[in-house]
Amino acid sequence: MIITIANQKGGVGKTTTAVNLSSALAFMGYKVLLVDTDPQAHSTISCLNDSSNFDRSLYDVLINPQIPITSVIVKTNIPGLDIAISKISMAKLEPTLIGEIDGHFRLKDALQPVRNQYHFIFIDTPPTLGLITVNSLVAADSVLIPIQSSYLCLEGTDDLLETIEKVKKVANPGLYIIGVVITLFDKRTNLARDVVKKIRQVFGPKVFRTFISKSVKLEESPAYKESIFTYAPDSVGAWQYRKIAEEILERIKNEKNRLA
Ligand code: ADP
Ligand code: MG
Repeated sequence: MIITIANQKGGVGKTTTAVNLSSALAFMGYKVLLVDTDPQAHSTISCLNDSSNFDRSLYDVLINPQIPITSVIVKTNIPGLDIAISKISMAKLEPTLIGEIDGHFRLKDALQPVRNQYHFIFIDTPPTLGLITVNSLVAADSVLIPIQSSYLCLEGTDDLLETIEKVKKVANPGLYIIGVVITLFDKRTNLARDVVKKIRQVFGPKVFRTFISKSVKLEESPAYKESIFTYAPDSVGAWQYRKIAEEILERIKNEKNRLA
């Protein structure tokens, strides 16, 4: 199952969700690959002690289909979790690939040889709806949308849904939204509760039952190159990301039964 984590807004918890969901499933015994497509490389930096000594990144794989993705996949400290690394050079991808006839299919093609080696592949995306995010949607089986519980959180959602629809129509008809995660939730405010209501009006049962609360531990863990499960295993954040992982497993099972 390839899951792309997308929302063109920055700071909504895409990377935090990518790292901690990947880790949750790896700790449950699944083989997981995290693909970092963001030029800011926050997933890469959060997972590896030092990524500066790698010559290549996903950029090289995507511009040159002769280079296998395995050459940019490395093991993280978490058993069962590998990462395909990004670097700032990813920012050159868009101008380089524009005009290439297969420009939107490069990530899908690159993942083909490794997709059966993993139970889950999560793709972390940059805060845009450009070529990198479209590549990530073309490559995916499903999309997971993190939405920050804040005023104006739904601003821009229409553009995201429109992009998903376009990708379905042109390149990936099976693509579906596996779920919406409410992030940075602060249960003390009335606003947060109103916001949840609004998000539920738009996404209905797609919204996961578990919310991710605002948590200092979740904010701190990347600085120590750790997922929440080793940094603060008994924290609320660890419990919540584990619950979301369980909800995902449940939804995949239901989807399989529906198709069977
Ligand atoms: P995005 O990838 O969408 O830009 P991030 O996951 O990088 O978002 O989150 C943006 C910032 O908010 C980061 O500094 C991150 O550590 C912090 N953050 C994310 N989720 C939480 C949370 N649940 N509680 C507290 N801080 C969080
Ligand atoms: Mg990010």
